[in-house]
This record gives sequence, C-alpha cells and structure tokens, in this order.
Amino acid sequence: METNVIKVTKPSLPKFEEFVSEISKIWENHWLTNFGPRHIELREKLKDTLGVEGLTLFTNGHLALEAAIEALGLTGEVITTPFTFVSTTHAIARNGLTPVFCDIDKETYCMDVTKIEELITEKTSAILPVHVYGTMCDVNAIEKIAKQYNLKVIYDAAHAFGVELDGVGVGAFGDAAMYSFHATKVFNTIEGGAVAYSDPKLEKTLIQLQNFGFGDTDDVELIGANAKMNEFQAAMGLCNLKNIHQSMSGRKSAFEQYLNRLNGVQGLILPRLQENVKANYSYFHVQVEESQFGENRESLLYRLAQKNIYTRKYFSPLTNSFRCYGQNTSTTPIAQFISESILVLPLYEDLQLSDVDRICDIILEGH
Ligand SMILES: *Cc1c(COP(=O)(O)O)cnc(C)c1O
Repeated sequence: METNVIKVTKPSLPKFEEFVSEISKIWENHWLTNFGPRHIELREKLKDTLGVEGLTLFTNGHLALEAAIEALGLTGEVITTPFTFVSTTHAIARNGLTPVFCDIDKETYCMDVTKIEELITEKTSAILPVHVYGTMCDVNAIEKIAKQYNLKVIYDAAHAFGVELDGVGVGAFGDAAMYSFHATKVFNTIEGGAVAYSDPKLEKTLIQLQNFGFGDTDDVELIGANAKMNEFQAAMGLCNLKNIHQSMSGRKSAFEQYLNRLNGVQGLILPRLQENVKANYSYFHVQVEESQFGENRESLLYRLAQKNIYTRKYFSPLTNSFRCYGQNTSTTPIAQFISESILVLPLYEDLQLSDVDRICDIILEGH
C-alpha cells in the first residue's frame, strides 16, 4: 500500500508550543468567550491585515453571512451564483429570501456581470456574488449596476482572505463582505468567520445578531442568535496570523510549480492570475476539456485517487441543482458546463514541490 496520501487540503496549524503559550493567557484570566482580549486583539489585527474599516468576528463564516444579510435588511429576491459552496445559497434562503441564480463568466467563474440586469425585478433587493477560488469578481461593474438599481451588494469572500485590487482589500468592496476562517481556508481560526463593512452603523446590529440581540443596555432590541467567536478560536487565529505570509508563500510556490508543469497541456485550462490583483493562492483548479485532453474529469479524478491523491469537484453539483433549490440548472448553462469539467488539485502551505511533481506526472501520464 502506498502510504503517501495527499488530500486536497491540509489545515494550517501553528507550532504546538506557540498555541499553548497563546492559550495559557486564557487560564490566567478565565475569560473563554464573549468578546475577550484574544477576540479583540484578533479583530484589530485582522482589520489591519485585510485593509477594512469595520470588522465583526463570528463563530463561522456561514452565520456571518446570514447576519450580514439580515443586518442590511434585504427583502424579496437576491441575485447570486450557483457556482459556490451551498452555504452562500442557504444564507439567502434561511433569511426567508429567494435566491435568483445568475450564470457565471467562463474565464473567471465569477458572476457574469452582463447577465445581472435581466434578472432584476421589482422584488430584487441585492446582489450576492462570490469571489470564487479567491478570484475577484468584476467589482466595478457590479457597483455600477447596484447604484443604478438601488441594490445592496454583499460579497461572499470566503475564499478571498488577503486578496487585494490595486492595494485595496477585497473586503472593502460592496456594502459588506463575508470571510470564512474555516480549517480548510487560507487563514483559519479552527471554525470562524467575519463580516467586513465600511458603514459603522452596521457594527451594532451585527453584534446584536451574534449575541442574542443584546446591545449596550439590558433591553433586547432585536431577535438575535448566538454566533460569537470564542477565545480559543481567536487564539488559533492570532497564531496563524503570525505565520500568514510564510503560509501564502508556500502556497504560491506549489501553485507556480503546478503552472510550470501543466502550462500548455492541451485541454487543461489553468487558473489565470488577474491583473492588478494580489492573489492568495487559495485553490489550484483545472478545467478538463475532454475533447482536447482525451480524458474527462471523472477519469482524471479516479486515476489520481488510485494513487492516493484526493482532489475535489468544487463546485459540483451546482447549488441550483440541489433538491431544496428546485433542481433547475437550465438558466445557468456556463456554470453547469464548468461544474462538470472542473477539478481542484491539492494545495496547502507545506505541499512539497516533489509532491506537485508526482501529482503532475500522474496527470500527464499517457498525454
Ligand atoms: C467555506 C465557505 C463558506 C462557509 O464558511 P464556514 O466558515 O465554513 O461557515 C461560505 N461560502 C463559501 C464560498 C465557502 O467556501
């Protein structure tokens, strides 16, 4: 049996001693949750790292997105993408709103901005695009449409930690942006997430929504849930944040090695780095064009799995193909096509270049 198993991702962990030293402070003050010193310190450091004015930390990204939608008072219909993790669509639906699926751009895999306007009705209150794989949406075009039709914009930036456009943090675009700090993301707090925003008035509502509706007084003004980030999560975040540059540069090396090895291979469409965008190298995806490559995505996935290399079909199936969303992908043909041909290869901070070579050797076998 081959022992060298490579999974699609491997969560970043700090040195054990570093984490112990960080959490030892929790034993000194017995403050486990409810906006303790680790939480506050992480929030301030992240504001700086992400280049955002306002930031509220949550226990996970999904509840952060649900809260952002509620805090902005969205109603009726929300235009979104089906090419995402199901959390995005659930966050809309669980707020009692209707997701309206917009097709995606065949190069960026983000929402196709030329197809947004035809989906706007008198019920539309917002656009909720996803910076999928950390690739930035066309934020300027989206802002223009939103202004023209008086719509809110919330970005799902779960994949886009640290991404910048012309030096401006991805979370600074739109009315709000959600980050996920789940174990599998570029930056993790075990589980965790945040909402970034520039309107300071949103902060109070977001905190109320994550803390049973409590604000500054004993009165409860709104019907909140419980979605606070605790001190252990924040401690993991503080440790991982110290290592974030090294972690991203490890990802970058592996990413570039994939590019070197797979560039120019007929039938494999590789990630394209965007002009003026600082990338975070969160995912390495290949689109397998069967007619050119001579093999389909399923077959490639199977061949890799047989050699203990575990890839993932992010994002297949599309969220609009799930039973709870009506199983109708006919309105998003590009997204359907991409979801049938995309494969995400292993990528994490200490993925060895020799492992990338091994993976590429298998991919290229017989081609
Ligand atoms: C991970 C992810 C989420 C949910 O984040 P959690 O922190 O796991 O709750 C939402 N949207 C996308 C696109 C994601 O990848």
